[in-house]
Amino acid sequence: MALAPTLFDHELTSLPLPEGEPAFRRKQVAHWLYRRGVTDAERMTDLPTSLRAWLATEHAAKPFVASRRFPSDDGSVRYLFTLRDGKQTEAVYMPYAGRRTVCLSSMVGCPAGCAFCATGALGFGRNLTRGEIVGQLVEVARQEGLEPPDIRNVVLMGMGEALLNYDNAVGAIRTFIDPGGLDMSARRITVSTVGLPSRMRKLAAEGLPLVLAVSLHAPDQETRQRIIPTALANSVDDIVAAMRDWQAAIGRRVTVEYTMLEGVNDHPWQADRLAALLTGLTSHVNLIPFNPWTGSGFSGTQRPRLTEFQRRLEARGVSVSVRFSRGRDAGAACGQLALQGAEAASVADSGVVMTGA
Ligand code: SF4
Repeated sequence: MALAPTLFDHELTSLPLPEGEPAFRRKQVAHWLYRRGVTDAERMTDLPTSLRAWLATEHAAKPFVASRRFPSDDGSVRYLFTLRDGKQTEAVYMPYAGRRTVCLSSMVGCPAGCAFCATGALGFGRNLTRGEIVGQLVEVARQEGLEPPDIRNVVLMGMGEALLNYDNAVGAIRTFIDPGGLDMSARRITVSTVGLPSRMRKLAAEGLPLVLAVSLHAPDQETRQRIIPTALANSVDDIVAAMRDWQAAIGRRVTVEYTMLEGVNDHPWQADRLAALLTGLTSHVNLIPFNPWTGSGFSGTQRPRLTEFQRRLEARGVSVSVRFSRGRDAGAACGQLALQGAEAASVADSGVVMTGA
């Protein structure tokens, strides 16, 4: 079933208007959507009554029928969105140290099927539309009592492989950076990829100074194929070559994501191999302690071993930090809320807020 586009699915210059309506109305509508976070046309008070009624009946704005809010003790808030076709996706709001960041999904589930990832266990549901990606930020802002421009940092690192939903992900980024949209700096938008060299080069050709985060998770092909099935199609060497091409085109350092799995990718020789791979590349490695989930079959690397891995990288000149994932007590590495499905509502009933506006 094809879903009718919402207002968030349109480029700002092609927001729908009835015949005869002046083009400047698009700017007014965009202001309400992206600056004020208002999705109810009846509340767009500087529009003529007839236009408000037309928008309300002809063009829905909201891409979700419900959203549930799961606050965590660390201050982050996970969101579970129910889309208009009943499928579900997730986002995380992270307000820390004066920075408000939202982690957005690009898909329902994910086709990459990484063995350690709860989203991968869901399989692939479908791509999110441009409006469903943008709408996550707007809805998170609304529920947090903010306006959309109060959130200045975006990471496309939730459910899905953004570069496999290329047009909608890049379309959403264009709405985020459009001066008539959220007017966000591209430098504050991170795109995460499992490592798809041709799409990484295509993104570089867009010329946007984004942050590219590559989920490498292993420096050797054998280990990588064990934990990331799509690694069969792309070698570690090809991925690192694409990272170098990105850096040559965009001039920004590349982030390497590395989830630490006990006895799998945390051997000292793998730290040395990773350091050798990154020689000559300006990069930063995030070591991510594994967030265990039932049925994953993996354990997280223990702290002493993780520290030794970090030390070996640093000794070879690699910039590295340990990044703890947010929202553990809200149930959740990425994908866990959706994996829990209907049970999720009762898990965190004290935190549930249904969409109402
Ligand atoms: Fe998909 Fe990312 Fe999970 Fe891999 S880690 S299955 S790319 S969401």
